[in-house]
Amino acid sequence: MATTTSPLDPGLADTVAQQVCAQVGWMLNPPLIVTGVSNRHVHLSAEDLRTLFGVEEFTPHRQVRQPGEFAAAETVTVVGPKHTFEQVRCMGPCRKATQVEISLTDARALGLEAPVAQSGHLENAALVTIEGPQGTVRRPAAIAAARHIHMGDAHAASLGLKDQDTVSVAIDGPRGGIIDHVIIRTKPEWVPELHVDTDEANALGLTSTSFVRLIRPDGVETTGGRR
Ligand SMILES: [Zn+2]
Repeated sequence: MATTTSPLDPGLADTVAQQVCAQVGWMLNPPLIVTGVSNRHVHLSAEDLRTLFGVEEFTPHRQVRQPGEFAAAETVTVVGPKHTFEQVRCMGPCRKATQVEISLTDARALGLEAPVAQSGHLENAALVTIEGPQGTVRRPAAIAAARHIHMGDAHAASLGLKDQDTVSVAIDGPRGGIIDHVIIRTKPEWVPELHVDTDEANALGLTSTSFVRLIRPDGVETTGGRR
């Protein structure tokens, strides 16, 4: 007579245990993500940097949290049909395409219809004029950046997430709440950081030292019962 075997495949048991632990782990210890509030800023292509400033590279002014990226010493004037913003900070290094990131309040002030779009997706970006000390360019470049969370690929995988997933985040405080449609964006060198613009930050009481709680894309609550 054959010996009886376990009714549960050990590999399957492991998988189930891991999934249960991950779920309970999320609920007990929701991942906390630090916030970065993006004021209006400009990324320039190398060609536009040359036209506006007559230089080949930005001069770094201040490091930001994401490795390799920095606020540049260079600032530009952003001109719309209704208004002008002076001393708008450039962010380095150069990008493939020039991109002007503004809040929807800024867009309204400038007289532009800037779409909410992911960085680099400029198909519907608003036409805007950018002035530097050496020249002027006019580009379809103005967007309100879609809110997103930077993180390393391995970190994302450890949370069961991957590039382009969307999650929600929970925010404490008197103006706190839950925001949806937060895009996960990964690169090996990135560190976890939620990026929102000044409209979102002011509405929710967020600063660049605020921590928010990640909510799983499948809607499992990780807010410690405070939702
Ligand atoms: Zn970002």
